[in-house]
Amino acid sequence: MLALAAARLGFDVAVLDPEPDAPAARVAARAIVAAYDDPLGLKALAEAADVITFEFENVPAVALDQLAQLGAAVAPDARTLGIAQDRLEEKTFLNGAGVPTVGFAAINSADDLRAALAGLGHPLLLKTRRGGYDGKGQTWVDGPSGAGAAWAELGALPCVAETPADFRREVAVVAARGRSGEIALYPLTESHHEGGILRRARAPAAAAPRVLAEAERIVATILSALDYVGVIGVEMFERDDGRLLVNEFAPRVHNTGHWTLDGCEVDQFEQHIRAIAGWPLGPTDALAQVEMTNLLGDDVEAWKRLAQEPETRVWLYGKGEARPGRKMGHVNRLTPLPR
Ligand code: AMP
Repeated sequence: MLALAAARLGFDVAVLDPEPDAPAARVAARAIVAAYDDPLGLKALAEAADVITFEFENVPAVALDQLAQLGAAVAPDARTLGIAQDRLEEKTFLNGAGVPTVGFAAINSADDLRAALAGLGHPLLLKTRRGGYDGKGQTWVDGPSGAGAAWAELGALPCVAETPADFRREVAVVAARGRSGEIALYPLTESHHEGGILRRARAPAAAAPRVLAEAERIVATILSALDYVGVIGVEMFERDDGRLLVNEFAPRVHNTGHWTLDGCEVDQFEQHIRAIAGWPLGPTDALAQVEMTNLLGDDVEAWKRLAQEPETRVWLYGKGEARPGRKMGHVNRLTPLPR
């Protein structure tokens, strides 16, 4: 999607991916097949590109550092990616910047977990600090008797234990910050997860004015504290009293922003390219009410029926195998904005 958006703006895109058949490589001007930390691959990319970005988080942050040292303009930067890759660093950073999160504790042993249960109460949600996504690498712990098993279940890896968010709904904001510090936020999105995976997102989501104002304050705070360039996705819990807690942020285009492909004049992908290339940011107003539904695994087989639905746009990612839970594409269903 980023490569397609960039091509439309007249840029040539070079893609570095370990897979020879990477979906992005098929729509890019040039493909470099190499591991994300391969020095020769990184050198070739730095020589090919004026500006370098990434579209998922499992790129080693040191690779971004190396690219920057080779003279490439990398955005978002290695520090930001490093924070986002580690749930403990992320929450510590957020609280330090004045952004509220659930209560949490660093866990490096089953004893740490028992101490956290004594201090923070129970249940707690134990998550690996690194590598977890789409609900993987996390498990609820009901009390001290389950601490040993939970710790072992996640592989005895460095973890963070979180208090329950007690949310009435999950919301997200996709936003962009340009090279000169200007900020543009897309409308609030309401997100629905099943088994830890985003299933549906609806936007614009209705919310009380003070909730919208708080969401805006939170996102602007994060973007400024990171001196951020590009599109970011910020996932939040909205509690019954309207308080917002940030769950996590993703330093990239985000699944809760896929509705913008059909709901906005300038979608999140073009916005990201604009931001990193130093262009002015585009308008973010919603032109329609959109419900985005992810096509997970076999869901993708329904493409023909979906393509026949009026006011439904089908997006397929060109990924090979439809493994259970794998995001194979999405549909955006459009209805007019309420007057
Ligand atoms: P994550 O992997 O952190 O994005 O979490 C995936 C999903 O798990 C979230 O979207 C929530 O639905 C749920 N979740 C994560 N953290 C908490 C928490 N502290 N309390 C309750 N639910 C949570």
